[in-house]
Amino acid sequence: MDDNNEMASVKHTEKTWLSQIQAYYHQALLTLSQCDLCGNSSSQQTLICSTCLADLPLFKQKIIQGDLLNWPAVNQGLPRIHFDHLFSLSPYLAPFNHWLSQFKYQGRFELASLFASLLAKKWQETHPIQSVDLILSVPLHISKWQQRGYNQAHLIAQQFSLLLQLPYQGSALIRIKKNTSQVGQTGVQRRHNLANAFTLRHALGEEIKHVMLIDDVITTGSTASEISKLLKHEGVEKVTVVTVCLTLPKH
Ligand SMILES: [Zn+2]
Repeated sequence: MDDNNEMASVKHTEKTWLSQIQAYYHQALLTLSQCDLCGNSSSQQTLICSTCLADLPLFKQKIIQGDLLNWPAVNQGLPRIHFDHLFSLSPYLAPFNHWLSQFKYQGRFELASLFASLLAKKWQETHPIQSVDLILSVPLHISKWQQRGYNQAHLIAQQFSLLLQLPYQGSALIRIKKNTSQVGQTGVQRRHNLANAFTLRHALGEEIKHVMLIDDVITTGSTASEISKLLKHEGVEKVTVVTVCLTLPKH
C-alpha cells in the first residue's frame, strides 16, 4: 500500500467510526425519550410513561397502612424478625423482577432514580409525619462489591435520602462475613450463616432511635433481621425496612 492509499484508508476508518458514534448517540437519545416498557415517548426523568406508571403492580399501601407486616400472609411468612416495619413497592413481578436484574447485573444505574422516586412518593403518601433519624443500606461484602463494582442498595438509598431530605450514612454498616447462597437453606441455616455477618464502623449516636434500612429485595428477611438485631443492640429502638420488592419464600 503506498502512502496515499494508506492515508485514504485511515480517513475512511475515521469516517466509519465517526458515523458509528453518531448513530450510537442518536439511538441513545431516542432511548432516553422512550418509555422503558411500551416504547411510547416519555419524559427523561421518569423512564416510563404515565400509562405504564399507573399500571405498575404496586402494593395497596393504604389497606396495610404502609406496613406489609400488617398483612397476615407476609407477617407469617417472615418469622422471628427483628425489624418493626416493612415497606416495599411491589411483589417480585414484572416489570420489577426484570428491572432489578438489569440494575444489579447489567449496570442500569438510571433505574435507581426510578426506584427511589417511586419509593419516596409512596412513603410520603402513607407516612406523612414519620420521624426517621437515619437511613442505612444493606452492605455487600468487600469481595462482592469489588466484583460487581457497586452496591445496588446504596445507589437506591442515596437518591431516596436526597428526595426525603433525611440523613444517610452509606458506609456506617460493614459486611464482614461473606454470604453463601441462601437458596435451599432452612431458616435456621440462614440465621446461623448470617450470625455476626455485619458490624458498625462507628457508634451511631444516642439520638438515633428510628433507622430506615434500604435493600433492593427482601425474601426471607434474615439479612435485614440480622442487621436490625445489631442496630437494636447499639441502642436503636425502631427499624423500618424499605425495599423495592418483596418475594416470600415458598414453604
Ligand atoms: Zn409506557
